[in-house]
Amino acid sequence: MNEPHVLIVEDEPAQREVLAYNLEAEGYRTSRAEDGEQGLLLVDEDAPDVIVLDWMLPNVSGIEVCRQLKMRPETRAIPIIMLSARSEEVDKVRGLETGADDYVVKPYAVAELMARVRTQLRRVRPSTVGQVLTYEDIALDAETHRVSRGETELKLGPTEFRLLSTFMEKPGRVWSREQLLDRVWGRDIYVDTRTVDVHIGRLRKVLTQNGGVDPVRTVRGAGYALG
Ligand code: CA
Repeated sequence: MNEPHVLIVEDEPAQREVLAYNLEAEGYRTSRAEDGEQGLLLVDEDAPDVIVLDWMLPNVSGIEVCRQLKMRPETRAIPIIMLSARSEEVDKVRGLETGADDYVVKPYAVAELMARVRTQLRRVRPSTVGQVLTYEDIALDAETHRVSRGETELKLGPTEFRLLSTFMEKPGRVWSREQLLDRVWGRDIYVDTRTVDVHIGRLRKVLTQNGGVDPVRTVRGAGYALG
């Protein structure tokens, strides 16, 4: 559902499983690919929030996967953490030149890699790593599930809460109804897009219960945005 989604692209099964186990223990959802080609397919199928990508892979190498993802506008913003057995400085430079966001040398401590994943998530999904989000006079704390506007604490249903946290992660971004369905309801559940409108209506009602400007903007033909 709304938990962060991490894609692991790693050809060694034992390493792949250890990573998946630890990421899931952190409360994340994982997808796993055993080579570069499968990795690219999975990104198109179900875009992850972060990718942990091994350098040495059969078929399409990690560098090539990274290069391709960073070239495409729709995948460019997904953070990539490269894993490599090589430690030479020159390779590190090459890895970062392909656009990788971070670089971890094998063998690595799992705790270290988890910290790196959290750092990337803080950038792309701040509410999921316990950060309090604010937008104008609205504050949302994902850890305690508290939302306030000005001095008033607001009571939101679980769906309205997830909608608001999605908006507050990227104020100004326009979300289509389909994108909101995927993010807030999950892509495995069939929900009519009109359901989105119903919950947006409820969210607006709570946000404006004491007056104040409605911060949710309807973008005709496109969807909704905060601000
Ligand atoms: Ca490998």
